[in-house]
Amino acid sequence: MHLNPVNAALAVQLGLCLISTVAAEQQVFAPDENSLETPAQTTKERIAIIGAGAGGSSAAYYLQKYSNYSYAITVYDKNDYIGGRTTTVNVHDDARWPVELGASIFVKQNLNLVAAVQEFGLEIRTAELGRVRKMDNVTISDSIGIWNGKSFVYEAQSDSSWLNMGKLLWKYGMSPIKARSLAKKTVAKFLNYYSSVYFPFKDLTTATQDSGLTELTGETTLKYFTKYGISKLFTNHIVQAATRVNYAQNVHQLHALEATVCLAADEGLNVEGGNWKIFDNMLKASGADLQLSTAVSEIVAAGDEGKFLVLAGDSSEEFDQVIIASPYHQTGIKGLELPIKKVPYMTLHVTLVASTKRLSPAYFGLADGAFVPTMVLTTMPETGAAHSPPLFNSVSIVRYIPELNQYVYKIFSPSKMQPAFLQLLFEQGAEFPWVYEKVWNPYPRMDTIEEFQDWKVHEDGIWYLNGMEQFISTMETSSLAGANVAALIVGSANKTALSVP
Ligand SMILES: Cc1cc2nc3c(=O)[nH]c(=O)nc-3n(C[C@H](O)[C@H](O)[C@H](O)COP(=O)(O)OP(=O)(O)OC[C@H]3O[C@@H](n4cnc5c(N)ncnc54)[C@H](O)[C@@H]3O)c2cc1C
Repeated sequence: MHLNPVNAALAVQLGLCLISTVAAEQQVFAPDENSLETPAQTTKERIAIIGAGAGGSSAAYYLQKYSNYSYAITVYDKNDYIGGRTTTVNVHDDARWPVELGASIFVKQNLNLVAAVQEFGLEIRTAELGRVRKMDNVTISDSIGIWNGKSFVYEAQSDSSWLNMGKLLWKYGMSPIKARSLAKKTVAKFLNYYSSVYFPFKDLTTATQDSGLTELTGETTLKYFTKYGISKLFTNHIVQAATRVNYAQNVHQLHALEATVCLAADEGLNVEGGNWKIFDNMLKASGADLQLSTAVSEIVAAGDEGKFLVLAGDSSEEFDQVIIASPYHQTGIKGLELPIKKVPYMTLHVTLVASTKRLSPAYFGLADGAFVPTMVLTTMPETGAAHSPPLFNSVSIVRYIPELNQYVYKIFSPSKMQPAFLQLLFEQGAEFPWVYEKVWNPYPRMDTIEEFQDWKVHEDGIWYLNGMEQFISTMETSSLAGANVAALIVGSANKTALSVP
């Protein structure tokens, strides 16, 4: 038996959640060269997409897929790269050593992403979570520890899953099994979002009610898990370690759907060279006119034919429809008043450091020379404990560079990692020849929610994808939002019979 919460904890450290699709039903499509090049291009319906991340790229890709290239699409992004929150940075500025700076992991059941990977012939790396990992030809025995600021409340060697299983059951009773079962049932319900049961769903609120998932989005993780007989100890240790690394949020506040899907994760995947390549290829396949380094500043109504003027950079263009594929209140877009609810986003500091040294046993209260887990997740101290909470959400090795004998660590934290703190966190005498810091607004605050943002935010054709993030915030769900809105647009134009993605 494969008992997953340990693996899940490993998996979630890498930021993955299991969201499956029924991609087997996806129709294969290839650009219709004629429709890309014909003079008819100018007479095609024009759609502007704002944002070249997972959502915007998927919207462009599926719009053309479902309509056999019926649209003239322009994709704007204020960044000079494709991918948005899915992007890499090169260690020591060396293209041989890219590491994910944002979304790092998806799973094989994320079949929207997996189908795209296959279609575009991208190479996948498998981090076989819960096993000894080979990194750059060096075998690193993965291990995991959950740190509460004073001591490890849980530790596991990941190369011995049966031992881990015994350990989990010994410490947490039946809770791991109950949690796993809840996760499986939840994923099964979610699968319907991809099938003809719901797809394309006109609004997320109704689909969530009909699927029974409002019970989870409407409840905090702690309350929901307690209701289903999962011990507080297990929820506070294993589940919370997962929610903190994945969403920088604790179980008393984050809704239960987000936590539950994380526990269904098995094996982490990423694209060799960077997950952004999926979205780069989607955009290429869509034949969209890509305008990078071009911030959209305003959307206004154009004339009385229900069209829109999109002001971007120094120019403005007219479009029939507009898809906003970025958290709206972070875009700075002005003009039309759109009924998009303001949602608070978390702040997350991602610090990447290269060093020949590993984490310090002394910092973690261990004896000199003791082994510190390669992946340290965190939880909060027990109520009433005298010590402070951890200063970081997670720290783990993401790469080893044999040529330099350097480990690359990734640290997630709510505030900046000060140099003096890094000296304490790592073995004595540690030097950091390469440090990279990035502050993200990575995901929304996942408060309990029962009513979701509508897709359509202007009756003449302005659509908004990122309400999806309050349901589940991942590359896959952004892609699903893009596919869903594409299907709604194409379906309403009655262009073709739709099949599910
Ligand atoms: C550190 C971190 C770790 C994560 N880990 C994972 C993980 O392991 N697995 C996973 O699935 N997800 C993970 N996520 C979440 C995942 O990255 C997001 O859910 C997903 O990428 C969102 O895609 P999106 O297209 O909706 O938004 P974004 O990727 O944010 O794309 C929006 C784009 O819109 C552009 N834009 C904004 N305003 C304007 C404007 N005015 N004009 C033009 N362009 C504009 C932005 O530049 C951006 O490129 C992680 C996120 C972070 C930050």
